[in-house]
Amino acid sequence: MCHNDGRYHTICGHFIPMSTRQQDCLRPDCLFSRRHAHSAAMCKATGCHRLMTVPQRNPIRISETKCADCIMREREGMVGII
Ligand SMILES: [Zn+2]
Ligand SMILES: [Zn+2]
Ligand SMILES: [Zn+2]
Repeated sequence: MCHNDGRYHTICGHFIPMSTRQQDCLRPDCLFSRRHAHSAAMCKATGCHRLMTVPQRNPIRISETKCADCIMREREGMVGII
């Protein structure tokens, strides 16, 4: 099964995948693989791993901070208050 390497932010609980670090399992029955036998939109095969909507998350880094999105959202909120 494919998985994304990424960073897990413990404070906000978000996982930020690194798109450059996607591991391809190269299985023809995996929807996320380049070797997938069918086109992702057209795949009707029940044997394919199509129930998974996102590749598995593989946190290779743990950050005890908020993710960039949350920091940004917080800043925007503060602008609203001031
Ligand atoms: Zn896969
Ligand atoms: Zn398929
Ligand atoms: Zn976050």
